[in-house]
Amino acid sequence: MADDYEIIDKSFKRMVLPNAALTKLGEGFGWLEGPVWFADQQCLLVSDLPNDRVMRWSLSGGISVFREPSGFENGHTRDMQGRLISCSHGGRITRTEVDGRITVLADRYDGKPLNSPNDVVVKSDGTIWFSDPPYGTNTDYEGGKREAFLPANLYRLDPADGSLAVVADDFEGPNGLAFSPDESKLYVAETGGQFDAEPTQYIRVFDVSADGARLGGGRKFHTVSPGNSDGFRVDEEGNVWTSAGDGVHCVSPSGDVLGKIKVPFTVANVEFGGRNRAQLFICASHTLYAIYTNVRGARRP
Ligand code: MG
Repeated sequence: MADDYEIIDKSFKRMVLPNAALTKLGEGFGWLEGPVWFADQQCLLVSDLPNDRVMRWSLSGGISVFREPSGFENGHTRDMQGRLISCSHGGRITRTEVDGRITVLADRYDGKPLNSPNDVVVKSDGTIWFSDPPYGTNTDYEGGKREAFLPANLYRLDPADGSLAVVADDFEGPNGLAFSPDESKLYVAETGGQFDAEPTQYIRVFDVSADGARLGGGRKFHTVSPGNSDGFRVDEEGNVWTSAGDGVHCVSPSGDVLGKIKVPFTVANVEFGGRNRAQLFICASHTLYAIYTNVRGARRP
């Protein structure tokens, strides 16, 4: 409803629906992240990270457990064949096959175990791009305290040959990531040191090379306030719908905040799904919300 929005730029008015309400879909979770929409099953999967499980939500079936234990899964996406790709804070990138078996796609780089893969996106060429900050190794709450052996890198994994390459190594804590609709740009959240008094936190934007395999640039794109950007999704027009301390902020490709969806709790991740990818699912701390918008989540080219 109108009370659920804050219109900052008048262009935001056509992106939201005054008669669509922010709706609570479930509550009582530990901390929600990693939402991914399955249009073929009309359901959302979402990580309840501290409780080491992945939940499933559908309109007719409500909330149920999809996977428990989950290996402290965090970010999720689907590959070009529709298979679930998961980041595990146990230090793995996995693919759930259509028969339910789980294939480990990557668990080490340069002979050392991955830290705690946080978020993931699949490019239209099938390559898997993921962030590997040490957050899951810092506490027993979201994985398990242990030494982190690798820098907080951003990786590109090619499942065709199993090759894993570092595409950015100048992060303190890389987190959420998303390509622009034409895949010429990659947005990546920097969420900084977990226990720093004033962590470095902003969204960066990289230029994707013509061969689609490397990144250039990496300038500061936008700083979310209040709170920070943990994760985001991009709509068809290239706007970035990012998590924030007071809800979800819609940021234009030029880096300006166009408007906000107001949410009572800190938001970590979002996902477009539902009919025509126009429903925005919102992981807000311990509560799952959704709201219909008047935009559509970007499709891969
Ligand atoms: Mg994250």
